[in-house]
Amino acid sequence: MIETFKNFVGGQWKASKTGKTFENENPASKGSNLGFFQSSGADDIDEAIGEAEIAFRTWRRTTVAERQQYVSEFLRLLKESREELSRIVTLENGKTLRESRAEVDSALVEGNYHLTQVSAFYGHTGPGAARDITTWVQYEPLGLVSVISPWNFPMNVMCRKTLPALLTGNTVVFKPASFTPWSGIFMASLFERAGLPAGVFNCVTGLGSSIGNRIVEDPRVRAISFTGSTAVGKKIQAQAAANLTRTQLELGGKNALIVMADADLDATLDAAVTAGFSNAGQWCTSTSRILLQRPIAKSFLERLVARCEQMNVGDGLLDATHMGPVAGPQQYEDIRNAICRAQTDGAQMIAGGDARVSEDGYFIRPTVFTGVRCDMELFREEIFGPVLAISEFDSLDDALKAANDSIYGLSSAIYTSDLRAARKYIDGIEAGLAHVNVHTGYKEPSMPFGGVKQSGAGLPENSESGLEAFVNRKAVYLR
Ligand code: NAD
Repeated sequence: MIETFKNFVGGQWKASKTGKTFENENPASKGSNLGFFQSSGADDIDEAIGEAEIAFRTWRRTTVAERQQYVSEFLRLLKESREELSRIVTLENGKTLRESRAEVDSALVEGNYHLTQVSAFYGHTGPGAARDITTWVQYEPLGLVSVISPWNFPMNVMCRKTLPALLTGNTVVFKPASFTPWSGIFMASLFERAGLPAGVFNCVTGLGSSIGNRIVEDPRVRAISFTGSTAVGKKIQAQAAANLTRTQLELGGKNALIVMADADLDATLDAAVTAGFSNAGQWCTSTSRILLQRPIAKSFLERLVARCEQMNVGDGLLDATHMGPVAGPQQYEDIRNAICRAQTDGAQMIAGGDARVSEDGYFIRPTVFTGVRCDMELFREEIFGPVLAISEFDSLDDALKAANDSIYGLSSAIYTSDLRAARKYIDGIEAGLAHVNVHTGYKEPSMPFGGVKQSGAGLPENSESGLEAFVNRKAVYLR
């Protein structure tokens, strides 16, 4: 019996007014159906926005301590559900159970950080310049916030946006990605169990192309927090401009790892494999370009190929699996086509691309291309799969020039034992995240998480800016 999941709107589980549902396939098992989800339409979004707007009138008056209690209970339930939720994430996204558990753990760490941090956030007051006037900056919630998340970190990204929005007194309408609606619905059930008042958090499933517009263009929406592709981010930014709606956009990346000849090669290989192939390469901060200083290129590549060949690709639920399938048929086609085009463009495939994986799911082996020039698509476009583009360089200046030759600027890394080279890289790299002897995917909640250039716009997530994104600063003068 395949379950049918409903939307969570105004504190109730509701079928879509369209009367339609869509299926959710496990990418490790072609043709499977994990459940039926509501194929929502404009009326469902209107209703959710209406409920969130009504709920805001009361929610904005709650104290920070009250909101902390709700969020604290949500996090307690999230921790308790770690195994169940990790399994859901693996089933619908394909990543390994180990990776799904890491995603839940990361959401817990970040959620607990915001839970504590929000108390200090409200501590800003100041004496006025005039003797009889007291001034302070009053942080006020924006209102109703739309949260739109991608499928690659279906629960963590949603938490990183939603929890700061709720803690600062906003209400939320959340649209999960259509590949991963189950994790979104599961999160809604945790908010329900945590006793969150009706309408404060709403979850509506459906295709981004059909309901995404509605959730963005409605003037009642006061902020849009979106994580996804740069192409969709640009559309959202343009639509938001019509109402001057605030946006927080976390977008694509083409992250470079620079390897200097003096680098610790074992540590660098670990970084390349971890950041290149975790989540089957489908993460925004994955390493997708490796720039090798010529003297170590040959030995690095030999060892990288050996590491790729040792990786088991298969069902993420199995303990022996190092890398799961990619997220679905479209993603599979897009990556396979990008691999074919890279070969046509003249890059040499030295690992991957073979047929040694089962045909049951959307599996692609870790793939490595050498001889990649800066003008090739493989060097410039985000493939969003387990595909590494390798180029060689002579000087750090050349490497920085190549790394920065991109529309993106999300994450980056250098491996070196030379402090001067590290410093030069930190100052010269055009990216939101600069790592030295740390892989491109590493992050901590107290540090801002966001990209520059076409990798993002608006205030970054995490750190203080993660809360700041959801408040207005009112300047108060009291005589
Ligand atoms: P996507 O842009 O296709 O979809 C993201 C979300 O937007 C989904 O929920 C989708 O349904 C929705 N959507 C689609 N069209 C829409 C529209 N017109 N209006 C409103 N919403 C719409 O991205 P994806 O394929 O789900 O995720 C992969 C992308 O996300 C990659 O580019 C990756 O780099 C990026 N990403 C970035 C970060 C970051 O923090 N910078 C993190 C994770 C993923």
